[in-house]
Amino acid sequence: MKMASDASRIAITTHIKPDGDAIGSTTGLYHFLKAYGCRSLKIVLPSMYPDNLAFISAGTPSEDVIVYENTPDKAIDTIRNCDLVFCLDFNAFNRTEYLETALEQSPAAKILIDHHLHPDRSKFDEVFSEIEISSASEVLFHILMNCPGINDDAALLPRECANALYSGMTTDTNNFRNSTYPSTLVMASKLIAAGVDRDAIVEKVMHSYRENRLKLLGLLLKDRMTITGNGGACMVLDKETMLKYDVKEGDTEGFVNIPLDVADIRLSVFIKEDQGKARVSVRSKKGTSANKCATRYFHGGGHENASGGKILFPDDIPGMDQAMGYGVKCIEEFLSEQ
Ligand code: 5GP
Ligand code: MN
Repeated sequence: MKMASDASRIAITTHIKPDGDAIGSTTGLYHFLKAYGCRSLKIVLPSMYPDNLAFISAGTPSEDVIVYENTPDKAIDTIRNCDLVFCLDFNAFNRTEYLETALEQSPAAKILIDHHLHPDRSKFDEVFSEIEISSASEVLFHILMNCPGINDDAALLPRECANALYSGMTTDTNNFRNSTYPSTLVMASKLIAAGVDRDAIVEKVMHSYRENRLKLLGLLLKDRMTITGNGGACMVLDKETMLKYDVKEGDTEGFVNIPLDVADIRLSVFIKEDQGKARVSVRSKKGTSANKCATRYFHGGGHENASGGKILFPDDIPGMDQAMGYGVKCIEEFLSEQ
């Protein structure tokens, strides 16, 4: 906090395609620092968050949220010209994609607050990184509880901060279905006691999708999923189908978890077409490493049981037509070695 109060210009940033934890933790920190008296404070996002997460950011003045994809020069200038950058919910600069070079070159002090495996410690001046924790929002919550003036009283957190942190934790734990530790329940308990409306947040995070999501899920489970012989499942979503079902960013959140409902399935891979590549989500049950699978086959990484990566065209395969065959081959090979 000393570094924050000494800094005159602060930037808060997170990974590309920000998810609930990325938006929850950045928004939570923004509102805490604002209440703490920091005046020049900007959130810099590499890309925009999906509509279904807009409620988390709703109380943040729009002029303080800079999105690289909308205003690239402003985003880069902000990172280059601040004296402190908070990096939330990622472990290495390349996870910000467009902001990587600016972060490398910025003279600002850098503070990492994260929960991914293998943080790139050498790039940061301070590292708060815990793996056995639900979310970056939770890491931040425990840091804030120890700040002078808060003294473990969650009721003293600004309301927007408390709501945002609870939302980030809820999305990363899939509402307490995974990555939930004793410390996570302590956080939930303290925030609910402090007045966070859990029901309202769960409603917004989990029960506010459009009908297209259900229809698309039906199609994917019926026609676009392969269950491998050895405990794997692979689902593929191409651009044409996305267009037909009006799929927006965020609409497919959580689809990758569904095959793991089956007793014998221990690894699930979801492949979604993107520009010149496909994005890959990997989830596993305990004892199988989604992280190893994503690292070895999909140029990615993340957490032990929840990771992600990509399939590059044409480096890995010529195009989306081959995605299912490629995904299944990778899964089968990976699981046969386990
Ligand atoms: P998701 O499947 O929800 O996109 O991502 C799951 C986890 O994998 C997240 O913790 C995310 O940070 C990580 N992840 C997703 N994509 C990539 C990637 O391309 N590279 C790395 N290193 N991690 C990723
Ligand atoms: Mn996270």
